[in-house]
Amino acid sequence: MFENLSDKLQRAFKNITGKGKISEDNIQEALKEIRVALLEADVNFKVVKKFVNEVKAEALGTEVTDGLNPGQQLVKVVHEKLIEILGGRSPEIKFKGKPPYVIMMVGLQGSGKTTSSGKLARLLGEEEFNPYLVPCDVYRPAAKEQLITVAGQVEMPVFDSREIEKPLEIVRRAMKEARNIGRDVVIVDTAGRLHIDMALMDELKELKEYLEPDEILFVADAMTGQDAVTSAKAFHDALDITGVILTKMDGDARGGAALSIKKVTERPLKFIGTGEKLDAFERFHPDRMASRILGMGDVLSLIETVQKKVDQDEAQRLQEKMLKNQFTLDDFSKSLNQISKMGDLGSLMGLIPGMGKMKQQIDAQAESKQMKKMQAIISSMTMEERNNHAILNQSRKSRIAKGSGTSVNEINTMLNQFMQMRKMMSMMSKPGKLGKLTQMFS
Ligand code: GDP
Repeated sequence: MFENLSDKLQRAFKNITGKGKISEDNIQEALKEIRVALLEADVNFKVVKKFVNEVKAEALGTEVTDGLNPGQQLVKVVHEKLIEILGGRSPEIKFKGKPPYVIMMVGLQGSGKTTSSGKLARLLGEEEFNPYLVPCDVYRPAAKEQLITVAGQVEMPVFDSREIEKPLEIVRRAMKEARNIGRDVVIVDTAGRLHIDMALMDELKELKEYLEPDEILFVADAMTGQDAVTSAKAFHDALDITGVILTKMDGDARGGAALSIKKVTERPLKFIGTGEKLDAFERFHPDRMASRILGMGDVLSLIETVQKKVDQDEAQRLQEKMLKNQFTLDDFSKSLNQISKMGDLGSLMGLIPGMGKMKQQIDAQAESKQMKKMQAIISSMTMEERNNHAILNQSRKSRIAKGSGTSVNEINTMLNQFMQMRKMMSMMSKPGKLGKLTQMFS
């Protein structure tokens, strides 16, 4: 998702030359490229115009921040503006009053409404809610059957509406049933049409009036680009929707709908569907998405992964030793172990700032093998050696090489890397040295 746009924006920033302050001269070309990149991504042209104007005004008006060159300053402004057009703060599902809460799913036929109802039930189910699915499309029996199938797959109960003919009657009885069986979130999968028509809107309005839903989520197919935005607007005008779900973001959607929908409807994108499988569904975080688009990585998703997989006490202990410059080979081995627990290095790297590009160049499998080799070398050492690598002499290195199935050369390389790492860490821990370190990477 967003790959093309991401590539083009990053290229635009690369060409900015010069040092010091941003000027019209040094960003003019980049702004032009940003404009083209957004238009090619099928972003609404009014949104693009406003975006580029605002970026320009803000970039020219910013104070020079210490250590940032004009290219980096522009990235900073574009990042902030991207977050803004993607919706600003991460939106939440808002439930008011007492349960059962109601979420009405609306949208055109084929947009992914039924699938997303099931996905949403699954997601909320994981968050301690007890969702209840209600099929409310009385025109297409296949639609009800499909929801029943989806509900089975996500192991959520579904109201049996098969014998009932009126949508209003279905929701009336379904709400009663939800209370009886103790379900606290009712997800109503309403009827869709191929095109927007008044009869459908009237039916939806009637349901809305009765249900007083906490959320009305408009489901749209991201692959339809600006058509998705146009129909979102029409549904919003009729029903005052509370949010949008964009499906099929895994397809070759260029991102235009995601980048336009908030500005056009004034309603946030709340979830995205990223595949046909029922777990391919995420809450939408504007800041994370903006960072991903700009190749700055998705640090928060990385942290979430790390928090789930890594022993926090151990990590804290290792960090303290690093800062005190007491980090030993034994600690090094333990941190390698933590890293390998986090899973596939390749996908993790995509989440690290600046690593998105490198991900394609680095052979993650070879890296994992290398890490295993380092661990093998360290585990062939005595504890005394692990805690003080300086005592390793030539004959011990030969023994360790034999024991770990490596060579003395490989041992020396690893020791060099380890010592370099320690040097870097001690630089980081000294006040005022961080600047020097960042210079090394710029
Ligand atoms: P509805 O008519 O709006 O209820 O749409 P459906 O839920 O039946 O979905 C239409 C088609 O889109 C189905 O084949 C789904 O499997 C597919 N679909 C829904 N969401 C996604 C998604 O996020 N990614 C992909 N690749 N396919 C999806």
